[in-house]
Amino acid sequence: MNVIYEPKGRAREYSELACNLYMGCTHGCRYCYAPACMRTTGRKWHAIAKPRKNIVELFEKDARKLRGDSRRILFCFLSDPYQPLESKERLTRQALGIVYKYGLKSQILTKGSADLIQEDLELMKKADRRLGITLSYVDDQKRREWEPNASTVNDRLEILKHAHKAGLYTWVSLEPVIDPEQALALIRKTHKYVRFWKIGKLNHMNEYEQTINWQKFLYDVEALLKKYSVKYYIKKDLRAFAM
Ligand code: SF4
Repeated sequence: MNVIYEPKGRAREYSELACNLYMGCTHGCRYCYAPACMRTTGRKWHAIAKPRKNIVELFEKDARKLRGDSRRILFCFLSDPYQPLESKERLTRQALGIVYKYGLKSQILTKGSADLIQEDLELMKKADRRLGITLSYVDDQKRREWEPNASTVNDRLEILKHAHKAGLYTWVSLEPVIDPEQALALIRKTHKYVRFWKIGKLNHMNEYEQTINWQKFLYDVEALLKKYSVKYYIKKDLRAFAM
């Protein structure tokens, strides 16, 4: 295959298949792993996003080969599928249409514009109903420090609520956890309209990581998720702190 691929390592805990539609991502998250994966600098990767060359044609070519495959294709790991450029290029919308056309399954993972997501909800329902939103903070000031150009916390919560009401399977990537209290507050605030949680620790930022008692967080977060009877998955690097 050309552009649909099988993720490896930590990304594999998210999805069996994935596709990156854009190169670059203007959300500019401080913890972004994409520049390291792409062997470039954060400054360059976050300066501009561009469509990948012939991405829609290549995606359709791969999708045709996979027709009927039950593995879910995640959009996207190395860039956000709903960043500002999507309002002009509509690559995500076209990819969702192709997913539907070939009887495939998809899942979105984004911290992008709620307005853009909203416009594609009907298509997401057809392309097998999963919308994932990344959240680390309930406090929007902190969110702005860490994810300066991504959507506000309020926008993300509203689109989750709306998607849940519209019948989509909503899930949250609570990763990276940067502040355990904020992470727990997010679960308390949103558990009624989030069907599934995927939880992972902050990595590659020692100055923050080492200030957190991960064992305590793991205990607290599991207790809370069990109290609300919601489904969840703890990623392996956080699970490793189990007593
Ligand atoms: S949304 Fe994802 S790819 Fe974009 S800057 Fe943030 S972490 Fe990086």
